[in-house]
Amino acid sequence: MRQVTLQELKQMARVAYNDLWAGARNMGRDVKLYLHWTGGGYDAKYDDYHINITGDGRVWVSTDNLDDIKEATYMRNTGSVAITLCCGLNANNENNLGPCPPTEAQINAMAQVVCVLADALDLTIDLQRVMTHAEAADNKDGLYPHEPYGPDHTVERWDLLVVREGAPRWSGGDEMRGNANYYRAQGLMKNV
Ligand SMILES: [Zn+2]
Repeated sequence: MRQVTLQELKQMARVAYNDLWAGARNMGRDVKLYLHWTGGGYDAKYDDYHINITGDGRVWVSTDNLDDIKEATYMRNTGSVAITLCCGLNANNENNLGPCPPTEAQINAMAQVVCVLADALDLTIDLQRVMTHAEAADNKDGLYPHEPYGPDHTVERWDLLVVREGAPRWSGGDEMRGNANYYRAQGLMKNV
């Protein structure tokens, strides 16, 4: 696992651009960014995701190729990038996120990572292209690559249903996209 700057990440996305888009087009959609949590502690990083964000907000890559197919988002991995927050250990539900809820540093870093990748990959930051695993699991984008297994169904996965304990169900994705779009509107990533 290698720590990277946002600038390095942008460069990696540029290099993988054509392959990611070719894979996505093959699936009849745009490139997707999937937002996860690990269900672990703040420092435990996993190869199942291209990008890990530890509790302190640092950004790590498990590969030098963002077009590698990861086993992160069931039936949805082709032409996508998987980004995870290292957190969520022993979380029970949206009202009890356990001893390792997402930190402000992580939430902020994920918004910046999404903004940088969306810029580099020419993506609108919306539900069709930037989804939490909770949203993907319940096919909230209207695609049906699998039976729903998210918060409104079997609850096998509910990553980032909320990013703050007690927040309204399904607010996590909107909050992450809102923060990323804020960075985009501010032009803060232009110099990255
Ligand atoms: Zn996940």
